[in-house]
Amino acid sequence: MKRFSEENYDFIVVGGGMAGLCAAISAARHGTKTALIHARPVLGGNASSEIRIHISGADQSLRQTDYAEGGLVYEMMLDNKACNDSFCYSVWDSVLFEKAKKEKNLTVYFNTVMYDAELAPGTNRIASISCVQETTEMRYRFTAPLFADCTGNGTLGYYVGADFRQGSESKAQTGEPHAPDEPNNERMGNTILLKAVDTGHPVKFTPPSYAKKLDEHQLRYRVHSKTMKVDASMAPDPEEWLRLSACSCKAVDYGYWWLELMGDGDDIIPDYEKIRDDLYAYAYGIWDHIKNGGEHGAENYTLQWVGALPGMRESRRLMGDYVLSESDILDHRIFDDAVAYGGWCVDLHAPHGLLDFDLLPSDCHHFTGIYTIPYRSYYSRNIDNLFMAGRDISTTKLGLASTRILGCCAIGGQAVGTAAALCRKYGTDPRGLAPHVPELRQILMKDDIYFPAPFTNDDEGDFARSAVFTASSVSAGSPDMLNNGVSRKIGDCLNGWKSDGIAEGGEELLMKFGKVRSVSQTRVTFDSNFAYPVRITMSANRQEQQRPGVPMELVKDYDIVLLLDGKEVGRSEVRDNHQRLSVTDFGRKIDCDSIKFVFRSTNGAPDVTVYEVRAY
Ligand SMILES: Cc1cc2nc3c(=O)[nH]c(=O)nc-3n(C[C@H](O)[C@H](O)[C@H](O)COP(=O)(O)OP(=O)(O)OC[C@H]3O[C@@H](n4cnc5c(N)ncnc54)[C@H](O)[C@@H]3O)c2cc1C
Repeated sequence: MKRFSEENYDFIVVGGGMAGLCAAISAARHGTKTALIHARPVLGGNASSEIRIHISGADQSLRQTDYAEGGLVYEMMLDNKACNDSFCYSVWDSVLFEKAKKEKNLTVYFNTVMYDAELAPGTNRIASISCVQETTEMRYRFTAPLFADCTGNGTLGYYVGADFRQGSESKAQTGEPHAPDEPNNERMGNTILLKAVDTGHPVKFTPPSYAKKLDEHQLRYRVHSKTMKVDASMAPDPEEWLRLSACSCKAVDYGYWWLELMGDGDDIIPDYEKIRDDLYAYAYGIWDHIKNGGEHGAENYTLQWVGALPGMRESRRLMGDYVLSESDILDHRIFDDAVAYGGWCVDLHAPHGLLDFDLLPSDCHHFTGIYTIPYRSYYSRNIDNLFMAGRDISTTKLGLASTRILGCCAIGGQAVGTAAALCRKYGTDPRGLAPHVPELRQILMKDDIYFPAPFTNDDEGDFARSAVFTASSVSAGSPDMLNNGVSRKIGDCLNGWKSDGIAEGGEELLMKFGKVRSVSQTRVTFDSNFAYPVRITMSANRQEQQRPGVPMELVKDYDIVLLLDGKEVGRSEVRDNHQRLSVTDFGRKIDCDSIKFVFRSTNGAPDVTVYEVRAY
């Protein structure tokens, strides 16, 4: 007899990659009873220990650090940084697991595959999805008023007939500068990564019988040895191409993002297993070439890990009310309904991946700055209750070439989860939420998502906006900037306050309201210094860019003292903080006319730097 259960939630997210995880957690944090249906035993999708892609973002690998993604994805990376200095992927899995498990409104169904979905008869609304959990032989039917497709492949949308595209649009269709003259079905391919370690003594490698043979000429455009120089002159911006593309794997210990195959069928999804077998053969073939095919500086290296589950870059893109294009990206469009942003280059890979031996593996059109992504790209244009987040959002192929970057997928997921909570509040569908997008954006900013000008904090519930700040010392910026609506350094403007050292009893910051306010929560945004990455990565080069431990600039210990007529009426002591956004709930509303913050120590920096203080 088949085991079967029916479950109902407010919001169901399918796919627990970084987009789906952020969508599910943010919805749950905003009071929505949420289920996350996830095919795998670990969270993070391509960023999990099963695939091990590192999280990049709008900071363009340190070229424009002011634009690093904040919010949930940064919170998770800081949690990881606080406990995982050795870049252990199992610990990263555990950090994501703990994050999801802590949310009381969130249930994660691991090892659970959605295999079908149904519309309510005579409507364009998803009524239910059907899932199987292989470990328990359980079958489930899940129902909810709202769904999010975070499968990467747009699988839920596909099952219910959502409009989608794959391959490339033509220039005539989109007007994009780098679109081909004719539409085509090209797509970026799947990849498995490998990791090798230096044992300190020579190690032999015997390839398996199925390994492919590769030679130096075939790999001349693909960095695979310590001393190799790639001729990148055919790249649109050779210098920037080398900076971005070569740094991750200039040595022989990690890679290779260019081990990329897309099959030769019409659709990459049904070819996945065949492509996987070929990737396996090429992965061992590349390592055989490095070890046995001439001098690559790898004599002492041995394989430590070879992925078995290929990461996917590109398949279906579900169509929304707006289709984000390369032109929007290169024009740095600021949409009225912006709910996320991106900043990675338009990073298109060679059409036949590794097999395009005469081409550079990628063709990046670099730019400076960021662009925004409209809310309308995050819900289906023809399925009424379907959101999407991650690499299946509504973009052209060239739009995806930038938006697929994990940081961008994650903040988009956070936007979708928060939007789902607001849909519930207003009893509406994704499209019906349009008038409330300014409110959605304010909640996202409150949760540490950055938005470029003209968007700033104008949250009417934030008592700090009309407060007056004074501080015990100042070495840069000003206490006045703590409520200027921007919670990070941008260019030369600190948008915050930096103390001059840390006095014996701590540095004091006083926030005066000028009248009595009922305060139940404070939110303080500290500097974490985006110039030092905090992501988990297998790349030794990228690891070397990091400092050990928690960012030293983050305030570690501080006290919050609520005052009324100079008398203490409430207090909270925060210890061992390692987060950029530090939220303190007092458990009740406390009448006060000012709040004193006493910053006692940082995680190592000599001064205290605060970007924003809020009070609710
Ligand atoms: C080799 C490679 C290198 C890359 N390099 C970088 C890089 O350096 N930096 C960067 O930022 N990005 C990089 N990317 C891009 C990035 O990894 C993806 O765009 C990103 O992971 C997309 O996130 P996602 O959450 O949308 O989807 P995914 O990461 O694909 O996660 C989707 C999840 O949904 C689950 N799922 C799918 N179908 C179902 C179903 N039916 N039922 C239940 N669960 C399901 C899957 O198991 C998966 O875990 C790279 C991608 C690849 C493949």
